[in-house]
Amino acid sequence: MLAIPVDRMGSLFRKNLPSVNRVFIKTYGCQMNERDSEAVAAMLRGRGYRIVATEDDCDILLLNTCSVRDAAEQKAIGKAAHVLGHRRKNPDFILGILGCMAQNRGAGLLDQLPDVDLIVGTQKFHHVPDYLDNLRSAREAGVPIGQTIIDTAEEADSQNTIRDHLESETQPVSAFVSIQQGCNMNCSFCIVPKTRGDERSRPMEEIVAECAGLVERGVREITLLGQIVTSYGRNRYAHAGGISPFVQLLERIHAIEGLERIRFTSPHPCGFKTDLVEAYGRLPKLCEYVHLPLQSGSNRILKAMNRPYTQERYGEIVGALRAVRPDMYFSTDIIVGFPGETAEDFSATRELFAAVNYDMAYIFKYSIRTGTPSAERPDQVPPEVKEERNQTLLGLLQENSARRNQALLGTVQEVLVEGPDQTGQRYTGRTRGNRVAVFEAAPHRVGMLAPLTIRRASVSTLYGELA
Ligand code: SAM
Repeated sequence: MLAIPVDRMGSLFRKNLPSVNRVFIKTYGCQMNERDSEAVAAMLRGRGYRIVATEDDCDILLLNTCSVRDAAEQKAIGKAAHVLGHRRKNPDFILGILGCMAQNRGAGLLDQLPDVDLIVGTQKFHHVPDYLDNLRSAREAGVPIGQTIIDTAEEADSQNTIRDHLESETQPVSAFVSIQQGCNMNCSFCIVPKTRGDERSRPMEEIVAECAGLVERGVREITLLGQIVTSYGRNRYAHAGGISPFVQLLERIHAIEGLERIRFTSPHPCGFKTDLVEAYGRLPKLCEYVHLPLQSGSNRILKAMNRPYTQERYGEIVGALRAVRPDMYFSTDIIVGFPGETAEDFSATRELFAAVNYDMAYIFKYSIRTGTPSAERPDQVPPEVKEERNQTLLGLLQENSARRNQALLGTVQEVLVEGPDQTGQRYTGRTRGNRVAVFEAAPHRVGMLAPLTIRRASVSTLYGELA
């Protein structure tokens, strides 16, 4: 469907605009959004557009947006309004809104942003080059488009279109690969099933071929992406000898020669059955770092969230993973201040949070998302209580992270050398536990695994010497 609901006569009678092709994509939100933006950038480059490094240099600004919390939407709307307010200086300028907020709000965005040129949802990223071509040709021909192009329909197999990668002279050594779109979990707080649609997996062959192609280009570490990666392929492939389709995929990717490391995000605790836990013992390229979203440590709140596990089961999964890999690193997502969360519920979260000893965590204050079941609840938690709980967990996290980094002093950690750091003076890389490390190195070591002796540590960064 291409809805064109708004008449925008006005500043569109322009001619001779072949130079209007410099695109900057600003991405909000998660790694999936980053990956979608990269795929759009690669498609646009293939169509002759230039992808520029800064917003100041662009003629076409695409905001790839997030809807998980209201604050993320407000940020993108504020940005778009600001940009449109300055457009008068350059009437040829094109502004597009892509992704989750485009999907969530659709034509409703025009109430606040009537002059936006393009609104493209999460199943239509691959049409962005066509829409930009149309906008540019209309302007070159001096024909007013007169409407905002809006495309937020569902499209069968759209999950298979997020596959292009940007090629550059400084080939990154680490890459994201999207294996799935959408989510069928229906957590009561979450807007993602609305913005991303039903769970749809890509064919295993295509994912493996994409990973192999990346490795040929110098990639050494691949992070598989999806809303619930552990559900990968469940409607498409059968279990084989007790091995789930997701673990089968891990095995296939593990077999790619030249690939050194595999990560994935986000899994669901329900996906950690024996086959996945054991995979950590037999697939050495699988890094000992697990992002395991907890959301709450209170069984009462987990039930209200429609999260089908208990704090006891979550603890068992952590224990099982540590039994296979004693040095396992854990990160998580937590929501504080879910409707009805009492001091007792929060204590249960705090206790489990301390017991798991997370190395990293994303702590979110509950945000009302219109259309989700928990948005309707009358027992919303006051903002100051959410803030206090947020600060409590952030304090614990800082202590944990500092303790873990201090414990690494004097040890030798394997790092994958990624490239120069922000200063350009030193190099940066990550340990298998996903810790950022900074060190001196020769340029030829980029893309290599190297042993790093840890000499100094801050809360978030390790500093060391390469052997
Ligand atoms: N795969 C993840 C899982 O197992 O639930 C979901 C990823 S979700 C896009 C990212 C995180 O945003 C969630 O894990 C949750 O912690 C947070 N989130 C989602 N809806 C939220 C809301 N209404 N308010 C605050 N945080 C929210």
